[in-house]
Amino acid sequence: TPEGPSSLLDGLDPDQRAAAEVVRGPLLVVAGPGTGKTRTLTHRIAHLVHEQGIPPERILAITFTRRAADEMRERLVVLLGDVGARVPAMTFHALGLLILREYGDRAEIGIAGERERIQLVAEALSVTERKATQLCAGISRWKRRVARRSEALLRPPEEYSPGSDLDRAWAAYEEGLAARNLVDFDDLVTLAVELLESRPDVLLALRERFVHVSVDEFQDVDERQYRLLLRLAGEAQNVCAIGDPDQAIYGFRGSDVSFFFRFREDYPAASVVRLGKNYRSTRTIVDAALGVIAPSPTVGERVLRPLIEDRSRIVTHEARTERAEAEWVVHVIERLVGGTSLFSMDTGRVAPEDGEGTHAFGDVAILYRTDAQSHALVEALRRSGMPFQRRTHDRVLERAAAMAIVRLFVATYTPGAPLAPSLQTAAARVREEIAAPHEPEAAAPVAPGEGAEAPSFGEADVDAALVVLLAIATRAGEDAERFRLEVALEVEVDTWDPRADRISLLTLHASKGLEFRVVLVVGCEDGLLPLRFKGREEEADVAEERRLFYVGMTRARERLFLSYARERVRHGKPAAMEASPFLREIEERLLTEETADMSKKGPDPRKKQLTLF
Ligand code: ATP
Ligand code: MG
Repeated sequence: TPEGPSSLLDGLDPDQRAAAEVVRGPLLVVAGPGTGKTRTLTHRIAHLVHEQGIPPERILAITFTRRAADEMRERLVVLLGDVGARVPAMTFHALGLLILREYGDRAEIGIAGERERIQLVAEALSVTERKATQLCAGISRWKRRVARRSEALLRPPEEYSPGSDLDRAWAAYEEGLAARNLVDFDDLVTLAVELLESRPDVLLALRERFVHVSVDEFQDVDERQYRLLLRLAGEAQNVCAIGDPDQAIYGFRGSDVSFFFRFREDYPAASVVRLGKNYRSTRTIVDAALGVIAPSPTVGERVLRPLIEDRSRIVTHEARTERAEAEWVVHVIERLVGGTSLFSMDTGRVAPEDGEGTHAFGDVAILYRTDAQSHALVEALRRSGMPFQRRTHDRVLERAAAMAIVRLFVATYTPGAPLAPSLQTAAARVREEIAAPHEPEAAAPVAPGEGAEAPSFGEADVDAALVVLLAIATRAGEDAERFRLEVALEVEVDTWDPRADRISLLTLHASKGLEFRVVLVVGCEDGLLPLRFKGREEEADVAEERRLFYVGMTRARERLFLSYARERVRHGKPAAMEASPFLREIEERLLTEETADMSKKGPDPRKKQLTLF
């Protein structure tokens, strides 16, 4: 049931309300984590529909992930009832695709998945998959700066060398895509912008269709996304950008906080609203996070006032190895959920205010910098028997298992035949294929998160992929074309369910916008936070890594745990590690260290705690 008209903006504080009540013209909301930016954006849209009588279909809400779009729609349904579901909330990629399909005579357009891109380059240049993976990553990086190779050749940027491996790969890549009538993800927004810039009729039609455009997580937009936003907003300038420059974590993909300044230049009349109250986290967590972000440059004063006065300290832990770290994580969660108390070094006693035994598995998130770190955690969690779910930041459906099923499905599908059973048949065939004895693949191991996914996959991957594919098939009905497009577009679809009562494992990047009662950030080590790539140590983008750590810390509502290991397998070899320099930025008074090395002891943490007294 909807919350009702009179209460629509009652759920906002005066500053948030001021933003939500700007119903015309450009609006910029700049505010820190947990200050209610997303909440304000959602309420504002509800307000536009309910108070201003704007049809929900005409209010475009751009979110960073598909999941965030779904959540926004769900919130709108709570506020507005069923009409809320009619608000088009989508990602930039989905918007690009919508524009191309509905206005660009490109209904037949196909999107190349990661595997397809890599194979295309590998075949065209006769190089290994691994090399092709690197080349594809390089092409993507360049494409975010210059959309086309011809542009790069016309006005070569300083570091671009025509005739290089990358340049040749790019040429083959463009040809290959064109020959197959495919585009890649980066092209979606580029082509949409080009369409709007070359076809005034299309531009007009879109401006008539969407009379309001809003974008959340504005700090992570890139050049072309910004251009698309600007074009759509047009003369009416009903454009709303909401974000936090301190949380910009996609610089490596071409996003740029300078768009906050651009926005103010492009819209000098913009209403600017700042929000300063943090509704999410305890004072301790906010103070610690502010310590970490303090060295980061800011315009004006950085204001983030916590409203929750709980002063439980942040727990730090130094583990001997990453295995020991994972064991410790398991024990912490067992205490929080199971109720054995947490020992406090400061008071020398069991701290009752820590809320042991009052947490559910779903309240807990474990965050890490690279996917490779999740393996030790998954192992330890499996042994413990606690329920967990892993969210990966890469495109699940571009994984080998999913692509294998889709390929087989496409090859064997006959129009008319029901879609879901055909998929299951394809999955069964892929399973048989896996079970059949065959030559082991001689692929070089690449650490996930630091390169491509290994091409091999097993039965379990097929199951996971099938779950996701069937969900899409259900939505697509019998429309195979729509199914293929949706598959290509499922940037974010994963089996991670925010409502499941399971411990969440996610990368720091994937944690953006979310919140959990308890957060454990593992691997707080120099080299992981900030992350340094092998052979490119000096290139670490410390400023961006700092923001990433800040994003992770500020996901926590009540309890925050920060751990690091003295030894970890890095690039295939055990390496000695040191604590992250970011930890030193947190005031002592906010921290308490838990020193017990759990790797040496049995499953009952209480016994160890007693020996510590
Ligand atoms: P992030 O930068 O991490 O995306 P955000 O600024 O978008 O954070 P929200 O996720 O919108 O913040 O809000 C954070 C939490 O605070 C949510 O649980 C939200 O419901 C709550 N909250 C925000 N504003 C209010 C309010 N006025 N009254 C009660 N709760 C609020
Ligand atoms: Mg948000």
